[in-house]
Amino acid sequence: MTGGNDHMDASEKDIDKALRPLSFDDFTGQGKVVENLKVFVAAAKHRGEALDHVLLHGPPGLGKTTLSHIIANELESGIKMTSGPVLDKPSDLAGLLTNLEPNDVLFIDEIHRLNPVVEEYLYSAMEDYRIDIMLDSGPNARSVQISLSPFTLIGATTRSGMLTAPLRARFGISSRLEYYDSKLLTSIVLRSAEILGTPIYEDAAFEIARRSRGTPRIANNLLRRTRDFAQIKGTGTITREIAEFALNALDVDQNGLDEMDIRILSTIIDKFKGGPVGLSTIATACGDEAETIEEVYEPFLIQEGFIKRTSRGREATELAYQHLGRPMPQHLRG
Ligand code: ADP
Repeated sequence: MTGGNDHMDASEKDIDKALRPLSFDDFTGQGKVVENLKVFVAAAKHRGEALDHVLLHGPPGLGKTTLSHIIANELESGIKMTSGPVLDKPSDLAGLLTNLEPNDVLFIDEIHRLNPVVEEYLYSAMEDYRIDIMLDSGPNARSVQISLSPFTLIGATTRSGMLTAPLRARFGISSRLEYYDSKLLTSIVLRSAEILGTPIYEDAAFEIARRSRGTPRIANNLLRRTRDFAQIKGTGTITREIAEFALNALDVDQNGLDEMDIRILSTIIDKFKGGPVGLSTIATACGDEAETIEEVYEPFLIQEGFIKRTSRGREATELAYQHLGRPMPQHLRG
């Protein structure tokens, strides 16, 4: 799931909403993606047409939902939100599509998890702005064609590889979001702290940013938890000491790896001699779903050089051994 906010209570959701950038200019990072989207949005607006369909892919928490809202805002269009697993049957999709105003945005999160029957219906909707609906069943069954207003589908996915070729081909625009560097995340943390009215030192913001797995959602979450520590254990201001204290209390280590990252690395090293070991075996040993490990944890661990993906499975790298303080096996030495 890319939204990842299901566990939040009402006030946390309000905070989350307050922290969301509302315009391209407010959105930090993803330079090239944003620059291109700006052009496509301006051109569509200029022509008075619906923007071409957009596929946003990349790990969770990098801003796919946020960017979709921004695109709708910048188009001055409405947006309807749904997600792949929620669209159970074609009529669910038809209900949404027939309620769109011209040039509105339909956002489908986790689009790789669409029911194949629903996906079929989406093809003609995306291509020709029409859908064929079956009325009744058995001898009375007949199909009626419904014309739709021109609209933009924005699909978000953490697994673009799982999209079918026909669906992928129907997106005119496809953008991959990348992890953020610490500098960009620092400015996101500073911006969020300002919105929350929490005083914070720049080196404290950097410390939070550096340990946020390149992900704005994590940076914002760690900022909120650090703010709690500052209020209860300090003076309310987030200093570097408070940030370090809070991050350690939250089990976020010096490289920003959390408890689950460490569990994955130590499983590969301690139980499987550093690998190669298959993903599903790791998942069983760690007590989590293979899909979650592949979507949420692994991309960052690979990017940071802690694990390698080989044809025979996942392998721990020299860096992983060093990080966990385990003796280096022979084949990685020298
Ligand atoms: P995704 O849909 O990719 O999982 P979201 O769009 O829900 O990610 O973003 C997660 C959170 O991170 C949002 O609450 C948003 O406020 C914040 N966020 C994401 N990208 C940015 C950014 N570039 N600048 C500031 N905040 C961001």
